[in-house]
Amino acid sequence: MLIAQVIVDVPTNQTNHTFDYLIPPPLEDIVEKGMRVSVPFGPRKVMGFVLDVVSQSEWDKLKDIDEVLDIHPILTEELLELGKWISEQTTSFYIQTFQAMLPQVLKASYKKEIEALTEVDLSPAFQQLFAGRAVIDYQEFIERNGDHKQLLEEVNQGHLHINYIVKSKETNKTKTFVAPNKDLLILEEAIEDISARAKKQKEIIEYFIQYPEPIEKQELFKKLQTTSSTVNQLIKKDLLKTVEKKVYRDPFQAEHFQRTEPLPLSKQQQEALDPIHQAIDQAENEVFLLHGVTGSGKTEVYLQAIAKVIEQGQEAIVLVPEISLTPQMVQRFKGRFGSQVAVLHSALSPGEKFDEWTKIHKKEVKVVVGARSAIFAPFENIGIIIIDEEHETSYKQDEQPRYHAREIAKWRGTFHHCPIVLGSATPMLESYARAKKGVYHLLNMPDRMNNTEMPPVEVVDMRDELHAGNRSMFSRRLLEAIQTRIDRGEQVVLFLNRRGYSTFVMCRECGEVMKCPNCDIALTYHKSSHQLKCHYCDYQVPMVKECTSCGSNTIRYFGTGTQKVEESLKEHIPEATVIRMDVDTTRRKGSHKRLLEQFGQGKAQILLGTQMIAKGLDFANVTLVGVLAIDTMLHLPDFRSSEKTFQLLTQVSGRAGRHKLPGEVVIQTYTPEHYSIEYASQYNYQQFFSQEMEMRRSFGYPPYYYLTLITVTHANAFKAEEVTRTICKLLFKHLSPDARVLGPTPSPMVRINNRYRYQCMVKYKDEPNQRDIIRKIQQHYNEEVHRDNLTIQVDFEPYSFM
Ligand code: ADP
Ligand code: ZN
Ligand code: ZN
Repeated sequence: MLIAQVIVDVPTNQTNHTFDYLIPPPLEDIVEKGMRVSVPFGPRKVMGFVLDVVSQSEWDKLKDIDEVLDIHPILTEELLELGKWISEQTTSFYIQTFQAMLPQVLKASYKKEIEALTEVDLSPAFQQLFAGRAVIDYQEFIERNGDHKQLLEEVNQGHLHINYIVKSKETNKTKTFVAPNKDLLILEEAIEDISARAKKQKEIIEYFIQYPEPIEKQELFKKLQTTSSTVNQLIKKDLLKTVEKKVYRDPFQAEHFQRTEPLPLSKQQQEALDPIHQAIDQAENEVFLLHGVTGSGKTEVYLQAIAKVIEQGQEAIVLVPEISLTPQMVQRFKGRFGSQVAVLHSALSPGEKFDEWTKIHKKEVKVVVGARSAIFAPFENIGIIIIDEEHETSYKQDEQPRYHAREIAKWRGTFHHCPIVLGSATPMLESYARAKKGVYHLLNMPDRMNNTEMPPVEVVDMRDELHAGNRSMFSRRLLEAIQTRIDRGEQVVLFLNRRGYSTFVMCRECGEVMKCPNCDIALTYHKSSHQLKCHYCDYQVPMVKECTSCGSNTIRYFGTGTQKVEESLKEHIPEATVIRMDVDTTRRKGSHKRLLEQFGQGKAQILLGTQMIAKGLDFANVTLVGVLAIDTMLHLPDFRSSEKTFQLLTQVSGRAGRHKLPGEVVIQTYTPEHYSIEYASQYNYQQFFSQEMEMRRSFGYPPYYYLTLITVTHANAFKAEEVTRTICKLLFKHLSPDARVLGPTPSPMVRINNRYRYQCMVKYKDEPNQRDIIRKIQQHYNEEVHRDNLTIQVDFEPYSFM
């Protein structure tokens, strides 16, 4: 008797453990760990993951597994272990984690079919089943034959293939092909009948006599310099026909990848690569922090590290932030490793993602380049994991399971005994601190590849503008600089921090921002109560009328959107042509890329945008980068706001003067004396690091303390606050006296979708029981969560504080 231990797709506290199911005899040799099965659960049938196959159960009345959904395990043993670990670390349900590790298609409903790759080699039973057909429904197999063992054998011998068919229009890409509809002899005869004047028609038929295979319609038009109407006449005469054909979804197929060879390395590149190569050679699980300025040639180091990994027959995972997963980036990997590379990012349709994932699962590729979830690539012999722009917060998933890709990378690195490379021009404080302590191996690349200096940065004090009577959002200096570029036919990039959350108050006269004395966080203005509140602790004061620093009454909230900037720009410089890039203009698939292409082709002089233009842009003609209202970022209610500002400014500055023309950067701010602006304008990471560490130490933030953020939401504000208060009390009571429990306080976005949000924050150094306590709290509220629509979100080491 064999029993499968199954995690079922019912994400609740009570069902967050394995259930035992009997494996019926026909499935005995089939069911393996890591496969998905369909099982009866109460009155329903649900999907589940087989975690283990055992021979005994403590329960006596077991139900049978209904069906096996996979022919081969879809999660490797490593990924099963990893999934359990993540669930425990993030206190999420096992089922949530396993699903997060797989492409979406495998979560949704889909149809399976069996394709015969050969007829003669098939066993008689299958020959009979297929009866000359090339493809049959999986369902038909279940009903008429159902012998999984035989099926598996045929699949393993390469006679049969199981296809997952995605039931979605978008994912089933077809193209129209044109093909001959008659015998060649008939076509030859037909040529005689076509009138001499219809020369094009004759040519087409002649073409098909020579090449009778179906050809894609557009390609035919191009090849024969013809049009749809000519082809349609031949279709009308029944000589040709159209066929819809499914095309393999390769999102980058159309683009031409020029093969590249490894470049001879610079000295600093060689010195960075050597220790990495050594770690690969000796299968050492070491974490490297590659601190290299923009343009220092980090990517070439990654490429040559991967080359060695492939040479050893191993595989590589490369993570890049979604936003910088541009065609240029993909080009660099595909250019070097060609079809050995799979690419995973969110711009792909679910079907395309599944295709890429399948290539990894079948080991048809050696390298995956992708955004966060690519860290779960089902490789089994990993030789290196690289995380580029390691400081990017998008590596943390903001829903359950709230994992950070870096931590997953470390776990897998330990499992596979392979090195991890974290690369950045502006490493996260936590990472750099670890490198300084020797936990990570620090590699430095301080010089740019072409030895050009970073462009000079000018910081414009907006308070002076106000004093001079300029109330617009553009300083005189920036306007003049823009005008000069337009006159010279050069291009400008204008950057504005993402719109949205900006309700801090600032004095326009002196730049003073109202802050919490305990947390050093900008206070948030609450309209309803007319109060200023801290979002970490419960500090609050009535809204001030006068600046506490200079007494001026020019104190107000701050923030503006890209659209307003565009309008204002047009008022000042009517002849300027602008491409605006923000969430509104890039909603449609492909628009991001199209807008960038237009700018690259010089169709506009100014590119105006939010975060999404900060990275990876490389345009030879851009000689000026302007940063408007950086203050909105500097004063986010987030203890990392200084760090984020520093990172962003460094990144944007890297956009100017990347080629022959010298570049310049202009930053507008009301607080030019702030250290993150000052050091960013000098490209001084070291100084920034020391000063920021000082701040973190005195206010008790990472890397000196760990944080846990618990957010409670409910339709009733009192209820949300009351539950949060109880949670704070429970944590205070059960955690060690060294832990600090802050709250309850309203979240920065206190109301979303008519739900009120309150939070509790824990600062701690070492609390081994924390997760157990939190689990118990979650269980305690379990019933209310279901009955009363209460939510309790727990985020360990949070990156977002909204
Ligand atoms: P980073 O990733 O550190 O910002 P890149 O990898 O983009 O830097 O390198 C900057 C530029 O230098 C790129 O155009 C790249 O092709 C070029 N480059 C990198 N390494 C070399 C090398 N060893 N020899 C010549 N050019 C190089
Ligand atoms: Zn003031
Ligand atoms: Zn506070």
